[in-house]
Parts: sequence; structure tokens; C-alpha cells
Amino acid sequence: MKIATIIGARPQFIKAAVVSRYIRENNNNDIKEIIVHTGQHYDTNMSDIFFEQMDIPKPDYCLNINELTHGAMTGKMLERIEEVLLKIKPDLVLVYGDTNTTLAGALAARKLHIKLAHVEAGLRSFNMKMPEEINRILTDRISDYLFCPTNQAVKNLENEGFKNFDTKIIKSGDVMLDAAIYYSEKAVKPDFEIKDKFILCTIHRAENTDDLKKLQSIFNALSNINKDYQIILPLHPRTKNIINKNNINYNADNILITEPVGYLEMIYLLKNCSLVMTDSGGLQKEAFFFKKQCLTMRDETEWVELVENNFNIVVGSDEKNILDGFDNIFKVRPNFDIDLYGKGDAGKNIIEGIKNN
Ligand code: UDP
Repeated sequence: MKIATIIGARPQFIKAAVVSRYIRENNNNDIKEIIVHTGQHYDTNMSDIFFEQMDIPKPDYCLNINELTHGAMTGKMLERIEEVLLKIKPDLVLVYGDTNTTLAGALAARKLHIKLAHVEAGLRSFNMKMPEEINRILTDRISDYLFCPTNQAVKNLENEGFKNFDTKIIKSGDVMLDAAIYYSEKAVKPDFEIKDKFILCTIHRAENTDDLKKLQSIFNALSNINKDYQIILPLHPRTKNIINKNNINYNADNILITEPVGYLEMIYLLKNCSLVMTDSGGLQKEAFFFKKQCLTMRDETEWVELVENNFNIVVGSDEKNILDGFDNIFKVRPNFDIDLYGKGDAGKNIIEGIKNN
């Protein structure tokens, strides 16, 4: 069977690394994977380092499509992915997550009547202003295989009537857990100064970066948080550009802004931090995998089970709410021994699910 994997953004490299490894190690050559990199994320820190550190095979096709508006980017990707699919004629296309790459890959496959599998299906924020929510909903609706990381994701699809559609809904567990387990012992200490007590922070969601008031409010909160904690903020290039262009103020004495780090450095930071503060989807779960609590600087989350079980507080972008969240989060010390994301065998469940259905 020939599988075309379409990836292009940082979280997709991590997810695809897991499935790709399973294919290489377990399939006696009965699956051939062809990797197509759209180029949505393209520089060393956001792309190359993941291929190196996670041992992802070099992409067979690099489309170099980036730095465009949503419509232009998705449109160009659709056109170029179609060309590639016509050439390689795969039996199945595999897409991950919720980026423009995901949607373009899904549309290209579906219109060519190629079987389509979506990994991380069924997630919903119920916020239609999020570009990711649009990408998720549309990709789910046209997929043949929907691999769900959580029970809630399965429920979301059922609530939207997916049982009436000709699709296979399979709860695979979360590939990010497979990655966390596999790479945990390979963690690498980053080469910047890390204090004993620190908070790991990331900010890149459009809803925060594209609203300067929200962004400044988040930086005010980070600047005013308990000074016993150093804040380590590996910054997404988009956020960095916006901060520099708009003179967003922050207290550089306790906030260390760094370039984005590799996945192995990220694991080191996750293992050693006191708390995670983020608007990332992936990092909320990784905090849980490494038994850390998390403040989510968004108005809602797809990972509701983390909130229900007191691992995560959704604090939005308001300075006071964030600081209140910080004051409250350690009042509850939840028990992390609970199975929310499967057993770390999602890669296997995805490939065997495709082979057996
Ligand atoms: N990540 C990383 N280095 C960084 C920031 C994030 O390796 O500097 C990893 C992070 O651990 C997670 C993934 O990238 O596995 C999440 O990507 P991101 O936050 O960009 O996307 P989201 O999960 O919000 O879609």
C-alpha cells in the first residue's frame, strides 16, 4: 500500500514522526510512505530540527509554500498537492491536525477519490473564528478514517451526526503521547541559562498575536507573575515579529525570550519546569504527560478533559485572570495517574486501523 503523508507545520512533524517510525519498524515493506512537505513552516528552528532530532525521513517532495494569507496559502497548496498526488497515485493520504496544510491535503485527496485518513479527528473548540476550527471541521467531514485521540473527540463526531456518514471512527489515542514516551529519555538541555524554578511558556495563536491589546495584556501578566519563577519563552517567529514591530513591553529581568527550541530541548523544559503557560494545543497535553499543571491563555480549549480533571485552568488573555489562575493553580494537586490519551500506542492503532478496515 502506498501512503502519502502531507505535513508542513511544527506539530505535524512531531505527530508524523510517530506514525512514520511505526511504518518503518513494523510493516515488512507492505506499506510505502511518501512524505510531502508543504513548506508552511520552513526554517531550521521550525522544521529541519524536527526531521533531524526525530529521525523523520527526508521529504520526497518539498513545495515551499509559506508566508501567504490563509486563502492564498491553502489554494496554492491544493494546486501543488494535487499535482504530486496525480504523479505518485497513492492508495491513501494521511493528514494531521488542523493547519492549512491539513485542509489542502484533505481536499486534494478527496477530489481525486483517494482514501483519506485524518489523525487528531473530532477535536472542537466551538470557536468558528479560529482558523484551526474551520480546518478541523472540513477535514473531518471529507475523511474516510477518523482517528480520534480522546473519548470527547469521538463524542463530538457522534453529536455532529458522523455515525450517519460512510466513515470509520476509530479511537486511536494520542500520537503526541507516543512521542512523549519515546523521546523522553533523549531530552537535551537547551544552551541558555535556566534557573531552578521556571515556568515554560509559549504564545502563538492568532487570536492572541493578532490582537495587540490581548498580547500586551498577556505580557503584563507574565511581567507581574511571582518573581521567584523565571519565565522561559521560546518564541514563535510570528509572535516575535509582532512584538518587535509593535513595541510590546515586558519585563526582561524575569522573562527569557529564546528562539524556538527543538523537540528534545522542549522535553527537557517540560520535565523540569514548575508550570506550563501556553496557548498551544500540543503543549497543554505535553504538560500533562510530564505531570505538570497548565494555564491555558485562550478562551476555550479542545482538551476539555484536562480542565475537568484540574490539570489545566483556561485563563484567557486578561492580565488579572491570568494572575488569578497562577494564584489558584497550585491549590489543587491533581493525581496524574489517569488514562486520558490512550496507552502510547496510537501510531500502531492508526496503521493497523488503516490495514484492517
Ligand atoms: N514545540 C517545540 N519547540 C518550541 C515550541 C513548541 O518543539 O519552541 C513543540 C511542542 O512541544 C509541541 C508542538 O511543538 O509538541 C506544538 O506545536 P505548536 O504549539 O506550534 O502547535 P499547536 O499544538 O498549538 O498546534
